[in-house]
Amino acid sequence: ELPPVVEHPRLTVVGTGYLGATHAVCMAILGYEVLGLDVDEKKVRQLNSGVVPFFEPGLPEKLQEALGSGRLRFTTDYDDAAAFGDVHFICVGTPQTSGSAAADMTYVDSAFSELARRITSRSLLVGKSTVPTGTAARLTETVRSLSPAGAALEVAWNPEFLREGFAVKDTLHPDRLVFGVESDWAQAQLEAAFAPIIAEGTPVVVSDLATSELVKVAANSFLATKISFINAMAEVCEATGADVSLLAQALSLDSRIGGRFLNPGLGFGGGCLPKDIRAFTHRADELGVGQATAFLREVDGINDRRRTRAVDVLRELVGGDLRGARIACLGAAFKPNSDDVRDAPALHVAQLLHDEGARVAVYDPEAMPNARRKYPELSYADSAEEAVERADAVALLTEWQEFRDADPAALGALVTHRRLLDARHALDADTYRAAGWEVRALGRPKQS
Ligand code: NAD
Repeated sequence: ELPPVVEHPRLTVVGTGYLGATHAVCMAILGYEVLGLDVDEKKVRQLNSGVVPFFEPGLPEKLQEALGSGRLRFTTDYDDAAAFGDVHFICVGTPQTSGSAAADMTYVDSAFSELARRITSRSLLVGKSTVPTGTAARLTETVRSLSPAGAALEVAWNPEFLREGFAVKDTLHPDRLVFGVESDWAQAQLEAAFAPIIAEGTPVVVSDLATSELVKVAANSFLATKISFINAMAEVCEATGADVSLLAQALSLDSRIGGRFLNPGLGFGGGCLPKDIRAFTHRADELGVGQATAFLREVDGINDRRRTRAVDVLRELVGGDLRGARIACLGAAFKPNSDDVRDAPALHVAQLLHDEGARVAVYDPEAMPNARRKYPELSYADSAEEAVERADAVALLTEWQEFRDADPAALGALVTHRRLLDARHALDADTYRAAGWEVRALGRPKQS
């Protein structure tokens, strides 16, 4: 006999950043009563007034729809959240600890503790943040020790796989749901909390806590490895005169390999992949199985070398010395359709150019405020046209559609020298060459 399951549970979402805000909005759209909580008062004020504090296509419309339904609001008050929810989703950040590869667990620990010491009824605390394996078991102990008598709290894990830029679609229609649980009750309560998504036929994998935590870091490790694999091939191509684009095309036609995440270029960045693979290697070391993840250090190293390689190519393009050279840096976000500049390859390249004495002009369609805040020493332009004005070389660093659509002749009229590094293999080299540009791409021979 299971303890009672709340069939239409009220949900709280703790931490309303990229993940939590999207989750809160989408769950309200699906018909649940949702209370979002964040410690950032400004964020809470913005969300309550219908403003998404970051760039995510489609989310502002969904936020307004959800607020209009009366099923969604946001607070900074843990008492409110503790009393409201039957199921509490914890979506706070787990950034890399400064000076270490380990994940910083202070936010997750704090969120679980704040809830545990306040909740007085049977509730499920569900971690969605990406954490080192073993965290949920540890938090189970913490929650037990803080929880008032009779509260009957249980910890579960439901890792999140959404992609920034596709966050709404990925949340409403995920490839799969993973439920890390310790009891049939927790599983049944989670099924009730995801009923509309499960009803669509979404596969559900039910596992123990440790496996559910591992699924997320294993998935990110695999994706990072696939990207670094093709970028390692790009390094070999550069040494032999081979063309990594053709290589990738030929590999991707092998159905066992597939083409996704096999795009050579400037590599991965953002708030997830880099810190997740580092935290994973750190955790594996702690567990005494460091050899099993040692290859991820090389995956990270290959990724980093693409950035210095981009600088090398730009130095060659401007005649061997970057000092005083004007470089237009197109892109700052770690990928298109996001304003996220956490560990952004584009800004890392711009910084390296700046450090070498180049005069950079950075432009990004959405990430300018975040970029300016994080890299105040760089120079910024208000448009792509302004960035390329009188440039000695143009570097395409984030493949926004706006840059793909640019007219090579029009851009060419603005620059001092028609020299292009396409670090994302996003532009048609032949069209640019026909318009008089010298074009280089990572992993491709000079004239192909
Ligand atoms: P974020 O920095 O955008 O959001 C984290 C939020 O948590 C912030 O708004 C912060 O103010 C809030 N917060 C911090 N401490 C708090 C506390 N004690 N109580 C309440 N709120 C608190 O981070 P994010 O990108 O949303 O990532 C959150 C987690 O989700 C991370 O573990 C990340 O690895 C994981 N994740 C992120 C994505 C993604 O695409 N961004 C995808 C999958 C998983």
